[in-house]
Amino acid sequence: MNFDFDLLVIGAGSGGVRASRMAAGKGARVAVVENRYLGGTCVNVGCVPKKLFVYASEYAEKFEEARGFGINGTLESFDWPTLRDNKTNEIKRLNGIYTNLLENSGVTVLHGTASLVDGHRVTVGEQEYSAEKILIATGGWPFRPDIPGAEHAISSNEVFYLEEFPQRTIVVGGGYIAVEFAGIFNGLGAESHLLYRGEQILRGFDQDVRDFAATQIANKGVQIHTETDVRRIDKLEGGTLRCQLSNGDMLDADCVMFATGRRPMTDGLGLDSVGVETRDDGTIVVDHFFRTSVSSIYALGDVIGTPQLTPVALAQAMKLVAHWFAGDETPMTYDNIPTAVFCQPNIATVGLTEEEAVARHGDDITVFESSFRPMRHTISGLPERTLMKLIVQTSTDKVVGVHMVGAEAGEIIQGIAVAVKAGATKAVFDSTIGIHPTSAEEFVTMRTPRS
Ligand code: FAD
Ligand code: NDP
Repeated sequence: MNFDFDLLVIGAGSGGVRASRMAAGKGARVAVVENRYLGGTCVNVGCVPKKLFVYASEYAEKFEEARGFGINGTLESFDWPTLRDNKTNEIKRLNGIYTNLLENSGVTVLHGTASLVDGHRVTVGEQEYSAEKILIATGGWPFRPDIPGAEHAISSNEVFYLEEFPQRTIVVGGGYIAVEFAGIFNGLGAESHLLYRGEQILRGFDQDVRDFAATQIANKGVQIHTETDVRRIDKLEGGTLRCQLSNGDMLDADCVMFATGRRPMTDGLGLDSVGVETRDDGTIVVDHFFRTSVSSIYALGDVIGTPQLTPVALAQAMKLVAHWFAGDETPMTYDNIPTAVFCQPNIATVGLTEEEAVARHGDDITVFESSFRPMRHTISGLPERTLMKLIVQTSTDKVVGVHMVGAEAGEIIQGIAVAVKAGATKAVFDSTIGIHPTSAEEFVTMRTPRS
């Protein structure tokens, strides 16, 4: 059978763009269909604009810090439209770069919404295309709890384009997005409330990290309400959003943001009619090489329910292309994926939490922990502290988990992740010479196990 393309990719986000470009680079005839924005979530309403906002949110504190160093300045004003529009211009620049990257790789970009017809055919608007292989890389979409007045709240999709900067904010959720945006709002001068239904924010992270980070975040001014949820939202005259909370309290805000997780974006794809198997949560079931239950249809990225991180989608795309074109038969592994939460201070981690290490190795673990005031703050006077934690499997001396809450933790843990991935032992950490004076050197100087 003659197909229009060798590979048709649905979704030009992190995973889809990488797979398209790499497959085209191997000589395949590739098309990618995109119905919103080239670059997907990460570039348009995710990692990139979020990190730009994080940078902006850290300046006010820098003015405070500077005073102890004899540098006196005041933060006179914050102009939200300047930040928002400069960010939007940067995103437009990146969209252009993505267009060029795809076109220069020989990928055909089809603008529109794709629906599956069968294992080899897809419609985009009125047009039908055929392909030997189809790759679904359609990502995710914010999930909003179904409560009265939910329509008055925004999600991470809208937060990047607000007309006005809100002075009073409520973020609902206790995961990455909630914690990061509560910090952004706080740093930019808003009253910032973080409402989390559970006992402690950041479920899934190391318990000490969660507790320590929550204290630091609260010290910065974010008002964290645990075991609290929103029951209904009413819009009052004048625009105030009045939230009725699960504990009976009322809380007013100018902006309520749901950061309550993301669901796979499979709307209108026609998975059922074509026979692509999904789980109860809507994620697509794939095998080790991203093949769905329909043999010519593949899927990767957020839509398959693996860790929702851009580098994971990129790695999956590269693995798949290596499998198709270079005979790579080693499945992708999901161990030791480093990750960071860009709150203030940062949280970053690689490997097992202490709880996971205990579950896996029992009492065959040794924990090294250090909490200290970073040198900068001995003079700035700010109460910020840093936490570092190493988890070692005692019998093998292997470092199985590394955690940090502190300035630039994301930058530091990326390097440490290489060592953990390489199987470094505690002895290797100990024999590594530190870089002085840094916070990071603490990772190679911790000698006394936590009692
Ligand atoms: P996406 O990037 O979501 O791409 C899917 C694409 O498919 C989209 O462009 C969509 O428009 C398109 N599409 C969907 N359906 C169709 C259809 N039927 N037809 C045509 N096109 C379609 N990850 C990190 O690693 N670090 C971070 O700091 C980080 N920050 C984040 C901050 C926020 C606010 C959010 C929401 C996410 C963040 N993430 C971060 C997660 C990261 O953005 C995702 O893991 C990543 O984008 C997933 O890539 P993907 O290719 O699976 O999907
Ligand atoms: P997460 O899954 O991280 O967190 C969702 C939060 O919402 C959890 O605290 C969850 O509570 C809570 N929640 C879920 N449903 C409800 C509900 N019905 N009512 C109240 N609370 C609810 O999702 P996010 O939306 O924060 O982010 C999505 C993903 O994007 C992340 O998991 C991450 O992979 C990625 N991301 C990565 C970033 C990074 O790398 N820095 C930054 C931002 C996003 P509970 O814990 O009780 O289930």
